Amino acid sequence: MSQSTNTNCAECGMPCESREFHPLAACALFKMLNDAAAVRSNLEFVLECGRKQSHEIEQGFAVQIARDDGSTFLCAANGGVLTQVWPRAQRKYAVSHKRDLIANGFKAKVVAVEFVRPRVVQEQIK
Ligand SMILES: [Zn+2]
Repeated sequence: MSQSTNTNCAECGMPCESREFHPLAACALFKMLNDAAAVRSNLEFVLECGRKQSHEIEQGFAVQIARDDGSTFLCAANGGVLTQVWPRAQRKYAVSHKRDLIANGFKAKVVAVEFVRPRVVQEQIK
């Protein structure tokens, strides 16, 4: 026996679980389509768009290295895949990193970048 409480929406009659997100727009869609799966997939799409937009773009600095052939790449942090980025207020750390790289023979310079902070999606991975 299922633990979820299924009820029908009083407005449109769609079978919903008790805690299911079911805004009025979903009622309108269900009345048009009479297809609960389609309503849920549309809601999921809208929610996903909202999650993407909630990632705020910030301004900061990174260090760019020029290869001998003239192409460039942004320095990654300690062998990782993500670019090491300093927020605007920490520009001096980017400059210091650039100087270290130049001292080690790299053609490095500080560049302004836009970035999005990584967000934890799972607290711990074993
Ligand atoms: Zn409804």
